[in-house]
Amino acid sequence: MQDHDRISSKLDDMKIDSYSGFQKCIQCGRCSASCPAALIYEDFTPRDIMRRLMMGEVENLVAGNEIWRCGQCFSCAARCPRDNSVANAILALRSQSLQRMPLNNEIRQIEASLKKNLYETGETILPSTLLLPLENLGGRTRERCFDNSKRKERLGYAGDTARATPLPKDALIEVRILLEKTGFR
Ligand code: SF4
Ligand code: SF4
Repeated sequence: MQDHDRISSKLDDMKIDSYSGFQKCIQCGRCSASCPAALIYEDFTPRDIMRRLMMGEVENLVAGNEIWRCGQCFSCAARCPRDNSVANAILALRSQSLQRMPLNNEIRQIEASLKKNLYETGETILPSTLLLPLENLGGRTRERCFDNSKRKERLGYAGDTARATPLPKDALIEVRILLEKTGFR
């Protein structure tokens, strides 16, 4: 089976009724212009994902890290003049990636980190374990992050004070019981 047929059948499997349409992409870039992940990550461009799909680079995409940058907000799908959905194409690529390389991608690391955090603290994402490597962020985003912390300080807010408050012990014990009983851990 050809790569693009495999992706299309995967989309069918997932009950996504619109064909991802990567062959009718005109590379206009509206998807990239509306993509929040493209603002954050220098190595992520929805238009380029579509270009690479059209060029048949499925293996590279499935093996790479870019497909894990997407936040599945569907801004790209809402704005595409050709009714494409980069988000759906990425879902299909992710599904292929998880089937082929179950132990070798970023999502497994993120999953392990979320599970560990949830069991130990009752929260899934903690500032101390946030997996957003600064070196991957675009220059503009890096600058904005630093500006935002300075603004927060000027307004008298301490960074992440709410998150510094631990979950009450009883509640944490209940969370752990639930996780154990449901086979989460
Ligand atoms: S908005 Fe649609 S047509 Fe334009 S580059 Fe993105 S996928 Fe292609
Ligand atoms: S769904 Fe993914 S690719 Fe599309 S705009 Fe949102 S983050 Fe970008």
